[in-house]
Amino acid sequence: MRLESPTTLAPPPTLAPGSATLRAQFPLLQQVIHGAPLAYLDNAATTAMPLEVMDALQAFETRHRANIHRGVHSLSQYATDDYEAARATLHQFVGASAEHELVFTSGTTESLNLVAQGLWAGGPDQAWLRAGDEIIVSGLEHHANLLPWQQAARQSGAVLRILRPDAQGRLHVADLQALLSPRTRVLALTASANATGERPPFEELLRMAAQAGALTVLDAAQAAAYAMPALAHIDCDLLAFSGHKMHGPMGIGVLVGRRSALERLEPLRLGGDMVAQVRWDGADYAELPARLEGGTPNVAGAVGLAAAARFIEQVGRDAIAAHVHALRAQAVQGLARIPGVRVLAAHATQSALVSFVAEQGHPHDIGTLLDARGIAVRTGHHCAQPLMDHLGLGPSTRASFAAYNTSDEVERLVAAVAHAVEVLR
Ligand code: PMP
Repeated sequence: MRLESPTTLAPPPTLAPGSATLRAQFPLLQQVIHGAPLAYLDNAATTAMPLEVMDALQAFETRHRANIHRGVHSLSQYATDDYEAARATLHQFVGASAEHELVFTSGTTESLNLVAQGLWAGGPDQAWLRAGDEIIVSGLEHHANLLPWQQAARQSGAVLRILRPDAQGRLHVADLQALLSPRTRVLALTASANATGERPPFEELLRMAAQAGALTVLDAAQAAAYAMPALAHIDCDLLAFSGHKMHGPMGIGVLVGRRSALERLEPLRLGGDMVAQVRWDGADYAELPARLEGGTPNVAGAVGLAAAARFIEQVGRDAIAAHVHALRAQAVQGLARIPGVRVLAAHATQSALVSFVAEQGHPHDIGTLLDARGIAVRTGHHCAQPLMDHLGLGPSTRASFAAYNTSDEVERLVAAVAHAVEVLR
């Protein structure tokens, strides 16, 4: 029996952010850790999954699980329909237009590796990147949007230039202007910095780079749950995000962008499902999106990710954004009052996370003391080591918020940090 595979997003908002009704959708949150109700504040790393997404996964696995595309039997066709319906839902979720194509990957990391490698791998005659070309990467990036570019630069002979943030961790358009040159081929940038919470003026930075003839790549991993930019309205050729950071399953993500940009990418997963004709001595690749989706994809993941997109629409992106911004503001205010605590990017308002260091107290010790009170935060370099070095910092403690977090949880966080700093003094 066919499951319903809606390709449209959900109807009007019904679940208020922070409400008990919304929280009830997330079994993960209903737990007690070390005798205290779990306050899950590690959403920048991974978000919790609502029942709706679990139901979609279970329905697919129970009734439609089969391999896609290759089968004539009914289940294979249902699974193919589910997969393509998920693609259509996500295409809509990112505000793509007819010129955009969407490819499923395992996550942001794979998407960005596919871009950086794919631009180079065609060989010197076809590659977008050649010796002497320039790649600009912002200094706010997660390692997933830096290391692939370091490798592509090494392999192609291109030069990697860093758009350096100022001492507060802000990016400036004038600095990009100064870096752009006729040899600039790529700008790779985040929509929201995972280590500090900085929200760069990415629309303008992308526009400037596009005008200079560069290919523009946006890492939307941290924006996906509440602030996904509308692709058709920004100068972005390729955009990447992960399912698990927007209440979807792990191991699924997206690379979406202009068809012309995706066509430049040499496929990296060669094998089944991505070919039109194969001979002993060569092959013609299939059209997009299949060309970049070699092998059996994570069909259940795609179905679950589409369900997560519908969930976000149901709650309402603007409502989620307002909610997480307010929680971040409350946390910044509370933490800044604790003696010896310094909040990073304290100026940032459009952010869902707060990252801080304490004069006394290593982040790992602070994180452990918070855990003892049932509060989950992340500590370390947040996979952005060059940025932390540039800011003159070591590791930090990071609390990050989602639609289900509450003002009470922020109060608990602030009280627990004050206590930890006191204990560690
Ligand atoms: N970019 C950013 C900004 C991130 O925050 C993360 C995850 N922390 C990634 C990329 C990598 O995402 P994933 O591990 O899902 O591939």
